[in-house]
Amino acid sequence: MSPIQQARFLTSAASVQDFPAEAGPELAFAGRSNVGKSSAINALAARKRLAFSSKTPGRTQQINFFDLGDAGRLADLPGYGYASVPQALRASWDALIGGYLTGRATLIGVVLLMDARHPLTENDRGFLEWLRPVNVPRLVLLSKADKLSRAERAKTLAATRDALDQAALTSLVQLFSSSSGEGVEEARAQLDSWLANKKPPEKGN
Ligand code: GDP
Repeated sequence: MSPIQQARFLTSAASVQDFPAEAGPELAFAGRSNVGKSSAINALAARKRLAFSSKTPGRTQQINFFDLGDAGRLADLPGYGYASVPQALRASWDALIGGYLTGRATLIGVVLLMDARHPLTENDRGFLEWLRPVNVPRLVLLSKADKLSRAERAKTLAATRDALDQAALTSLVQLFSSSSGEGVEEARAQLDSWLANKKPPEKGN
């Protein structure tokens, strides 16, 4: 079984001081609110209600950590891009996410959800710029791909790859749908391979 399918809730942290001690390779999930991030985590973990979406901005200010058996951890970052977030809340979001991305030594990869119908919004680009100095691979999942025709899917995939390359933000990019299951196995295999490559050698090797 994939380690992602062994995910168990560990803890929530509303500030950097509350982060659990670093232990094993960690994958972070990010994306604007309502992009389908919780649905994606649940689809990847093959669970119904592991990750919860927070509909209200006030409840989104925490990072949820999950254990992936002994293979590592998953960190579900709060959604960004609420239109009407007060300045103070935005500042605390910045401190939380900035603190996580720049300070987490065990971070090995970031999964970034973008809506396949309109990827690379200003907020998505802002997040990617923030991530630029963080030296970890990125996997962009173009979410809700079931809402596009086959031709539109191919077009958005190619256009997103091109735009990221041109911005020197080269990332792995794939189509994804929690509803149809498109891309779920592919994404899971990618994350498994990141985790496996970072695993400390077995005792005796
Ligand atoms: P989050 O705020 O990023 O965690 O987003 P959610 O996972 O809660 O999803 C937001 C909304 O999009 C919900 O109404 C979901 O039912 C819907 N949604 C999520 N994933 C998909 C998908 O793959 N296809 C479609 N059509 N809708 C989706």
